[in-house]
Amino acid sequence: MSDAWERRATSLQIADLVAMSTDDWPGHVVATAYLQGCPWRCTYCHGGPMLDPTAPGVVPWSHVTDLLRRRRGLLDGLVLSGGEPTRQPGVVAAAREVKDAGLLVALHTAGAYPGRLPELLPHVDRVVLDVKAPAYLYRAITRTGAGVTTADKAFASLRLVLDSGVDLQVRTTVDPAVLTDDDVTELTAVLADLGVRDHVVQDARPGPVVDPYRDVLARVPRAHLHRG
Ligand code: SF4
Repeated sequence: MSDAWERRATSLQIADLVAMSTDDWPGHVVATAYLQGCPWRCTYCHGGPMLDPTAPGVVPWSHVTDLLRRRRGLLDGLVLSGGEPTRQPGVVAAAREVKDAGLLVALHTAGAYPGRLPELLPHVDRVVLDVKAPAYLYRAITRTGAGVTTADKAFASLRLVLDSGVDLQVRTTVDPAVLTDDDVTELTAVLADLGVRDHVVQDARPGPVVDPYRDVLARVPRAHLHRG
């Protein structure tokens, strides 16, 4: 595959398309495209088959643009989620195309590819960024890379989004088998120092395809599972 082909929106491997959602961007009615593939393997991930970066997508980009055209006036915009949507070079052209059509674009990302953000963020109205843990605990959740490499990527992405001025919500899904309440408090303070003004903390929940993790959660004292 050529570099030029990969940078087209039509190259996107899309695992799923939700035609209408009022939850994915509170206050807006949006469609959500789930892009195939993620480099990380988080303990609590519900992505399942969507994580495989070698699996082909099942929704052509033309289905997304047809939907946005048909529902013009009903949909405010498109959420690009995943998997990890910044993994695929075509996401930049996709976001630009939606913006150029006069619609809003949101990006739900874990920040695994900070190098993609400088060209992507100008075409994005809102970012929801997962920040999973203080840096030294990141690998225990992402189960990928060495040392703090996944944390370095996530925090580099956070810096880029903060510097861009794009509307940002940071979300932390608490894996109670890794994070104590003190760890969450520390992370919240670190994020506030960096300039994060909207930080949502939520509990990890076992998904249907991660039975070993369901067992892990069952062994964690319930006192740790207190977030809504
Ligand atoms: S970064 Fe997100 S999509 Fe990727 S493994 Fe972690 S929770 Fe799943």
